[in-house]
This record gives sequence, structure tokens and C-alpha cells, in this order.
Amino acid sequence: MPAEISLFLCLSDNYGVLLHDPDSGATASIDAPEAAPVEAALKANGWTLTDILVTHHHADHTDGIPALKTKHKCRVVAPQEVAAKYDFVDEIVREGDKVKVGQLTGNVIDTPGHTAGHISYWFHDDALAFVGDTLFSIGCGRVIEGTPEMMWTSLCKLRDLPADTEIYCGHEYTAANIKFALTIEPGNPVLSARDAEVRRELQEKRPTIPTTIGDEKLANPFLRADLPEVAANVGMAGAPAAKVFAEIRQRKNNFR
Ligand code: ZN
Ligand code: FE
Repeated sequence: MPAEISLFLCLSDNYGVLLHDPDSGATASIDAPEAAPVEAALKANGWTLTDILVTHHHADHTDGIPALKTKHKCRVVAPQEVAAKYDFVDEIVREGDKVKVGQLTGNVIDTPGHTAGHISYWFHDDALAFVGDTLFSIGCGRVIEGTPEMMWTSLCKLRDLPADTEIYCGHEYTAANIKFALTIEPGNPVLSARDAEVRRELQEKRPTIPTTIGDEKLANPFLRADLPEVAANVGMAGAPAAKVFAEIRQRKNNFR
């Protein structure tokens, strides 16, 4: 049976996600911003927590883990950077490793840039990817520990996933991301359409995610830094894609 997902808000703008395998009954929390909303989602669905899959070491993705692990005795899977900071990690994973949640199989992809050791989880058979703070809908994470080149390479890896892959990211930032994206590509009709759709979703208090890789390729300026028209729009025609990406990321950092 296909995987089931429960998506809910945590803290102010973080997303909590549960991934459930109906065949085995296994349930994974992707990151754990805080324990209470995760517990509420488990209860609402009648699921039992078996695993926590961590994307990176930031507190707004890990603070809920100790309480959840104490209560559920679940396995915690994480990149080395998380194990270096906390003692709750049971299994350290890196690119090339596979992670099982019941019968569901995820592939680990190294996606450094936001943090030096950030990873993403791609469940090929279910066309799902959990990308933490690397890729957002119409945006990307701040480059805090890595370089723009590193982040661009990570985003290109995610961009290469099948177009129908559903993307679950760590934050609800879509409206602000679109506002900025329109300054880079004011004439992109797909972006304008997404703007209207997102306004509707937020008005109805619905999440703007998941998005898909196919949709992001058409409207996310950070995935479009290697297109001649995007380079031209930022006055960098002919420049290497990583440099164009760095310029767009810098503009976003300064955007109000
Ligand atoms: Zn983060
Ligand atoms: Fe975050």
C-alpha cells in the first residue's frame, strides 16, 4: 500500500511531517520541531512512532526529539553533524545509504549548504522527498555553513529527481518567497499563477506544500539560475550558474 502522510504546523512556521507505512504500521517523524504537535498528529491518526529521520542539526528541527524518544523508544536516524551535537542518534547516515520505515525505503542524499552536513530523504517508490531547509516552495534555505556553490550543487541534485516527486520542506515560507521571486522573474506566468494559488491556500488556512519538483523547476528562481533569461534579469548574462545563484541568494538575504 502507498505511504500515508500527516502534515502539521509546529512552532511559528515549521512543518512537522509523519510518514506512515500502512503495511507494517511503522511511522516516522521527519525532524521534530517540538513534541506536542507530533504527539497530537500520532493520536489523531492512531499511529505509533517508530522512527525519527533528521535532516540537520538546527534546534527548530531537533528540539522535540528527546521527549519523543523517551516516550516511544523510537530509532533516531540522522547525519553525522547531529550525532556530533546530541547523544540521541542511533544510526548515522550519508549519501548512498538507505533508510527503511517499515516496508518503505528512502535514499539519503547529501544536500549541504544550509548546514555543512544537511541531508535529504528520497522515497523513490512513493515519489516523496523530505528536504528540510535545503529547498523550499519557490525558495531555498539560507546558506549558513556552506558556500553558494555547495548549495547550488545540492539544489541541482534535488532538481534532478523525477518531476512528480512531492517535496516536503521544513517551513511555511511560500508567500514571502513568491514576493521575492517576482522581483527576479516578474514576467513568469507560472509564478504569477502560483502566487494566486498560494494566496487562496493561505486564506483558507491550508498548507502551500507539498510542492513538486516539476512545479518548482518552472517557478523557483533558485532552481532556474542556469537559465539565460534569469541570468539576464539579474544583470549577469553569461555568468556561471553558481555565481547567478549566489547573487539571487544574496538579494533574498537583503529583501524586505
Ligand atoms: Zn535550519
Ligand atoms: Fe529550520
